[in-house]
Amino acid sequence: MRPLGTVLRHWQMRRVLKRCPIPHRIWQRVTRRLLVLKGLDAVQMAHLRELTTWFLDQKSINGAQGLDVTTSMRVAVAAQACLLILNLGIEYFDGWVEVILYPGAFRVNHEQMDAIGLVSNEASDLTGESWLHGPVILSWEDVERNSYHYHGGHNVILHEFAHKLDGLNGTMNGMPPLRRSMLLKKWSEALSEAYDVLCKQVAAGESTFINPYAATNPAEFFAVLSEYFFTAPNILKKNCPDAYEQLLLFYQQPESRR
Ligand SMILES: [Zn+2]
Repeated sequence: MRPLGTVLRHWQMRRVLKRCPIPHRIWQRVTRRLLVLKGLDAVQMAHLRELTTWFLDQKSINGAQGLDVTTSMRVAVAAQACLLILNLGIEYFDGWVEVILYPGAFRVNHEQMDAIGLVSNEASDLTGESWLHGPVILSWEDVERNSYHYHGGHNVILHEFAHKLDGLNGTMNGMPPLRRSMLLKKWSEALSEAYDVLCKQVAAGESTFINPYAATNPAEFFAVLSEYFFTAPNILKKNCPDAYEQLLLFYQQPESRR
């Protein structure tokens, strides 16, 4: 017997699919061009469409600074976000409701604390941001660039929504809730080892096997690793096979995409 929560989810999903389907023409036109979806077969695409429909019903995607958000833009964001949970389940996107799209990079002011506890205000331009219990914020210009032009290891949507998976435990620390079949120890060892190698490369001023931004902290490492897993998996397979194997167990992507 399936648990009550799962039954309710399925019932809710069926209702959503009936009530607000994505127009076929828009689905085809948008997803045909999304590079990160190449390699999904018809069954996987159908499942992705269900998840995307659910996403668009449950989450709001709003424009900032006067950006007019079209249905095609919503589908482009939601479909790529849902690729992360294609084999995980919709509950992995629990706990938040809003996505905010800026026309381009957006300026933020964040307080930073240095090693001796001094707090300073630092302004920076971001292409994406993911709040622990709040919204995901994205630059539409960068979403478009990453969606339609191949640049292995870079996809701001995958990056920011991977932070959402990570934060599901209540803290962003590079440790999303793992599948029951996975071992915490193996995940920690594999990712820590790869993280240490990267940090050493950065410290030594050497060229790094992935985007050096991943050395910022374990949360950024997991988010960047997720970008590579879906857009340039061979780089992970070659340089950190154990971490790649753990991501494979977690995301469970089909053979055709590996
Ligand atoms: Zn990040």
